[in-house]
Amino acid sequence: MKNIVDLLLDNFGQDRVKTTPDFLEKYGRDWYEGFDPNPSAIFFPTNELDIAEIMHLAASDNFKLVASGGRTGLNGGATATEKEVIISSEKLNKIKWLPETSQILCQAGVTTDVAKKLAEEHGRHLPIEFSSTSASTIGGNVATNAAGAKFIKYGATKQHVKGLKVVLPNSEIIELTKNVEKDASGPNLMELFFGSEGTMGFITEILLDTYPLPKFKESVLFSTNNLDVFDEAFIKNSEIISALELLDNKCMNLLAKDSKHNFNVLLELVADNENDIASLLAKAAELQVDVNLLNTRQAQEFWHDREKVPVLLSEKKAYKLDICVPVSSLVSFMNELQEIETNKDIFCFGHLGDGNIHVNLVDSSNKMPVIDEIYELTKKFNGSPSAEHGIGIRKKHVWHDFSGYKDKYKLLKSLKKSMDPDNILGSKVFFD
Ligand SMILES: Cc1cc2nc3c(=O)[nH]c(=O)nc-3n(C[C@H](O)[C@H](O)[C@H](O)COP(=O)(O)OP(=O)(O)OC[C@H]3O[C@@H](n4cnc5c(N)ncnc54)[C@H](O)[C@@H]3O)c2cc1C
Repeated sequence: MKNIVDLLLDNFGQDRVKTTPDFLEKYGRDWYEGFDPNPSAIFFPTNELDIAEIMHLAASDNFKLVASGGRTGLNGGATATEKEVIISSEKLNKIKWLPETSQILCQAGVTTDVAKKLAEEHGRHLPIEFSSTSASTIGGNVATNAAGAKFIKYGATKQHVKGLKVVLPNSEIIELTKNVEKDASGPNLMELFFGSEGTMGFITEILLDTYPLPKFKESVLFSTNNLDVFDEAFIKNSEIISALELLDNKCMNLLAKDSKHNFNVLLELVADNENDIASLLAKAAELQVDVNLLNTRQAQEFWHDREKVPVLLSEKKAYKLDICVPVSSLVSFMNELQEIETNKDIFCFGHLGDGNIHVNLVDSSNKMPVIDEIYELTKKFNGSPSAEHGIGIRKKHVWHDFSGYKDKYKLLKSLKKSMDPDNILGSKVFFD
């Protein structure tokens, strides 16, 4: 009987199936280095039929598949640890602008920055913004429901998606659309694929909304020792806030910036009317904080530096937690976190507006008890173990232990069983 690699080579040829060590190492894993890559081959489909064919082969010849995009994921979801075949979206890279609707229709392997640039060329904006968009793909963004600094105004990736084409594990190719604002025709099944992390199907094509560029934009830096000043009323009542980014003083030091205060909050305001910005700044002036209005060059520099923080922390081999707590509890959570933090090398940055704090443990000695303590604290505040990076292989032992996730875990497991009974796709993600 032929082995899997020979079978794939027979079916797709050497251009599309790679087995040399350089390919296996490069495409076998995502950004998370906690799992060693061990794929048997890397497959580069050029259309949906290729993917349907490999799903069929995997079911009949009993081998496993892992979906892979730009490999910037932080939880091993795109890592093949047990001789799986990686399906890379790299050659699925067609993109086009739809002028009537100002939408983008693209294949899954299109790099996020390429899609953003296309929107900008047409005077529009695709608000998927974070440090890894030069390498992440739109397919990966959908599969992780990625969100970044602009979540507070524009939401996560799923808010921009109006259509998906997906190859299911049973080889069927389906198209799901959302053409109307109101739709009571049963559940929105596109939801099954947002944050599905390569377990429910291989996403091949995405229809994306874009947004008008705001007429006015300002960035302000607040510094304070007391996060209480940014109460829920300030955050929630300010529709013109498009980003509200927190950096603790350790992150500021990492950027070689002086910080006299424990917390620095970088705020971006966008509006079509300049007065709206002026009145919010007047409100901000009443807060007990140092306020520093940034000019265009300073703002560009600061935002650029802000995006460098997760990369610099990766270089320091930080263990990254991307937890989320209800916005109303964020300040209390941060206060209790500071108690855990004493004498430990923990760097915090995050998105104040949505309760998402990235906690980075840099100290290499004995991290696990601290990690457990932070997860326990997150549970106490009814939080989530992942605001944006997902569960993957890395956090699967953690998340179902959170009280709010027990039933979701059970339901997801039965949905997975019905859609992928042989557990062909992403078999190590979410579940043991
Ligand atoms: C420095 C840094 C900063 C980051 N900051 C953020 C941030 O602020 N916000 C945020 O949300 N994320 C962030 N991330 C995480 C990551 O960039 C996102 O999760 C991104 O959406 C992953 O896209 P990708 O194409 O790289 O996916 P990959 O890493 O290739 O895959 C991620 C998951 O999606 C699945 N997948 C990929 N493509 C497909 C497909 N076509 N069909 C089905 N499943 C698929 C994979 O199986 C895997 O489970 C950051 C990562 C880094 C390295």
